[in-house]
Amino acid sequence: MAREKVKPCGVLASGDVGRWDSESDVVIVGLGGAGACAAIAAAESGAETLVLERASAGGGTTEVSDGMMYIGGGTSLQQACGFEDSPEEMFKFLMASVGPEPDEERIRAFCEGGPAHYDWLVAQGVPFEAEFYAGRMLSPEQQGLTYSGNELVHPFPDLAVPAPRAHMAACTGPTGAFLMQKLLERALALGVRIQPDTRAETLVCAPDGRVVGVYARQTGRDQYLRARRGVVLCAGGFINNQEMVCQFAPSLMKAQYHAATDGDDGRGIRMGMGAGGAAVRMHTGQITLPFYPPKGLMRGVFVNAQAQRFIAEDAYQGTMGEVCLLEQHGRVWLILDDEIFERRAYAEPEIAGVGESIEELEAEVGFPEGALQFTIEAYNRDARRGEDRLFHKGAEYLKPLETPPFAAFDMSWDKIPYAVFTLGGLRTNARAEVLSVDGIRIPGLYAAGRTAASISSPGYASGTSVGEATFFGRVAGFSAAGGGA
Ligand SMILES: Cc1cc2nc3c(=O)[nH]c(=O)nc-3n(C[C@H](O)[C@H](O)[C@H](O)COP(=O)(O)OP(=O)(O)OC[C@H]3O[C@@H](n4cnc5c(N)ncnc54)[C@H](O)[C@@H]3O)c2cc1C
Repeated sequence: MAREKVKPCGVLASGDVGRWDSESDVVIVGLGGAGACAAIAAAESGAETLVLERASAGGGTTEVSDGMMYIGGGTSLQQACGFEDSPEEMFKFLMASVGPEPDEERIRAFCEGGPAHYDWLVAQGVPFEAEFYAGRMLSPEQQGLTYSGNELVHPFPDLAVPAPRAHMAACTGPTGAFLMQKLLERALALGVRIQPDTRAETLVCAPDGRVVGVYARQTGRDQYLRARRGVVLCAGGFINNQEMVCQFAPSLMKAQYHAATDGDDGRGIRMGMGAGGAAVRMHTGQITLPFYPPKGLMRGVFVNAQAQRFIAEDAYQGTMGEVCLLEQHGRVWLILDDEIFERRAYAEPEIAGVGESIEELEAEVGFPEGALQFTIEAYNRDARRGEDRLFHKGAEYLKPLETPPFAAFDMSWDKIPYAVFTLGGLRTNARAEVLSVDGIRIPGLYAAGRTAASISSPGYASGTSVGEATFFGRVAGFSAAGGGA
């Protein structure tokens, strides 16, 4: 099927704007986590601030999220829970884990600014309790601090001192909704003007290329909104724009669950591209294979279509999703014995086969003859000695599979809803200024959240999206209020 090619939306020349419907210092597009923090920061800096939101209220994907925020470098919560972290160790971990050509400048800013960002969130009215959760992944109702990425997984403990960095606010209901409620209350208290049901369409540029406003549609009416100091794009990513995914990130097409609200249609990114902003790392996404909790399933063995192991099973479920979908073509199985079999997995996987022996299981699933037997024999031999010479799975999760019956969960892409959202977006610097392909600043234009390319693309840890949306949203608000460098 021929698909429409995605083009950047053009810009409107300021000379063609007959009238401005409103004027403010800073105009922000989108009122999720990034937009709310940008609005608060701009207003705190004394800027008259207007936020345009296409939905009838603010919240975005941040509101429906689990509200986990990856922040570190030695926050007060990390200290209160008894953990030492430093910007340097966090920097070492991120630089080693986020894939090729990491964005050193922004990663450095994110690590060095972590403790102050945490304090800023607390000052906005977001409370935290000093509780450490030792399991894998907090549920939306839990709170405190936990490990959420590959900090404890080989080879990272040898490269950086591990520390838990996933922060969740203290509340009784879902954390994402609570976080947004607190941020929106604060924005309103600071006098931020919020214009709902308003969909930003294009940027308005002066003859010298400076972004000076936004053209939007509000319930069928044209709106021309002037920004005296700057425009901040915080309109989410593009996972719900099929043409864009097909063009920029076709390998994400197989993931069936889109972890984003309808607003993730790529408009914000395209608006920025129209003004000359570069879109980078557009092929990347956060792909989750939700195979735990329960964390006991990490004692099983993941195999591909050739019945070979390909990863340490204690890897973060985002890494697992990425490797299974992109490197193993989404054809993977989890092998268990009776001792560790549990059915209450998040994703309720199908049982592809059961056998009284590995040989029987191998035949039932249809693996090449002898292949699964070879893999499990080798794994068991190592596990009995408490080691995993192939992938260095942690000792806590090493156990020989020798108690019949044996089972295989089908974890393939068409059997389990792999969850995905996009990580590519506009190229920005540590001040959240949008940059062109040549690295030149687009004057008056800022971006944050999923509209900007993530610092973790790929190599994500849970909480990075809301963590960096709030962090760089706040930076963007301050920068825009200052009128840009
Ligand atoms: C179930 C679930 C759980 C998740 N849990 C976590 C988690 O715990 N931690 C984590 O880090 N990530 C999590 N994520 C991902 C994370 O929530 C998002 O990636 C993140 O919140 C994006 O923040 P944002 O501010 O960039 O976008 P959003 O919060 O989506 O805000 C963007 C806003 O812009 C608006 N908008 C879009 N286009 C326009 C336009 N043209 N004009 C005006 N307004 C527009 C949208 O309506 C929206 O309100 C989860 C996602 C899901 C679905």
